[in-house]
Amino acid sequence: MELDGEGPSRRDDALKRRLMDLILSGELQELTPVFDPDVGFTYCPPLRDLGVLDCEGLEEVLRELAREGILRAELHDNIAVCGRCGSHRLVIRPVCPYCGSVNFRRTTVIEHLACGYSGPETDFRTPSGEMICPKCGKRLRAIGVDYLRTADVYLCSDCGEFFSLPELKFLCADCGKENSFKDLRIVRVYRYKVIPEKIRSLEEANLLNELASRIRELGLLVEGPGAKVRGVSGIGQGFTFVIKSPGEPIPLAVVDVVPAGRQLKEEDLLRFFAKAFDANARYWILALPTRLDDRLRDVAGRYGITLVESTGQEDLVEKVVQLLRDLAFKERLLEEDHSYPER
Ligand SMILES: [Zn+2]
Ligand SMILES: [Zn+2]
Ligand SMILES: [Zn+2]
Repeated sequence: MELDGEGPSRRDDALKRRLMDLILSGELQELTPVFDPDVGFTYCPPLRDLGVLDCEGLEEVLRELAREGILRAELHDNIAVCGRCGSHRLVIRPVCPYCGSVNFRRTTVIEHLACGYSGPETDFRTPSGEMICPKCGKRLRAIGVDYLRTADVYLCSDCGEFFSLPELKFLCADCGKENSFKDLRIVRVYRYKVIPEKIRSLEEANLLNELASRIRELGLLVEGPGAKVRGVSGIGQGFTFVIKSPGEPIPLAVVDVVPAGRQLKEEDLLRFFAKAFDANARYWILALPTRLDDRLRDVAGRYGITLVESTGQEDLVEKVVQLLRDLAFKERLLEEDHSYPER
């Protein structure tokens, strides 16, 4: 199927998004290739189980996700493939290392020490069961004394050479190339594991972006995720968000969102208080994806920090949006109260 301008890269993008959805939802945590006799190592069957039916371009997407630090590649296997076409379907063909003939057989070799002749054992055997040297005609007496016997050697019927191991050729069942061992390509096969820390930070970025757009929907101006405001001290103070009302020079609120899994301490509250105070915003909001203990909640209250405690990330978004909606409403009411007598 050819769609002009929508080549492999467009399809790869769709596949990558699909994989990212599976990764972020936790459904895909590890991808181990399985060996399929027809196609070799493949990641498609485990993905098919997760609903990904078209996995063309998958390996490039997996390498990309590994480069981006989302997946970690671990060596799973090492296989030899055809040096010309990359097929794993190789037929092993043993040949004589001297002349390349396939016409050889396994035999046992006798070396007659008395005359120095060596040849296959069958040439020494007589119908009576005696062993006679075919070169000098003497009878062999005792192994290790006047002759040596070496089992499991190969004798080439074409060139007459003995050898202990045949040379192996690898005939490609797909393109027909006869590969020597050196012609083969060694392919490293990887399994991929999701890196949880990276996913957590991606999830947090998603959460913060969602929160920012929800706050904008309230009609407020949002700087961030990652905003700086120049404090009264002249120092730039960093917050997750700085929120302003249109036309208002003083920030309505500075907001820090505490990452999941981070244990808040009293010093953290003090540090937040210090920079929020310096930033001269009306509200100092500290949003947590958990609940805070009573003692720290008291401390936050004494510092004038507005706490948003929640039961998780989605709840956090809802509660921060709700709070800002209330604050914006309250601020507008105050403005109306102030301006009313002057009308
Ligand atoms: Zn040979
Ligand atoms: Zn002899
Ligand atoms: Zn091939």
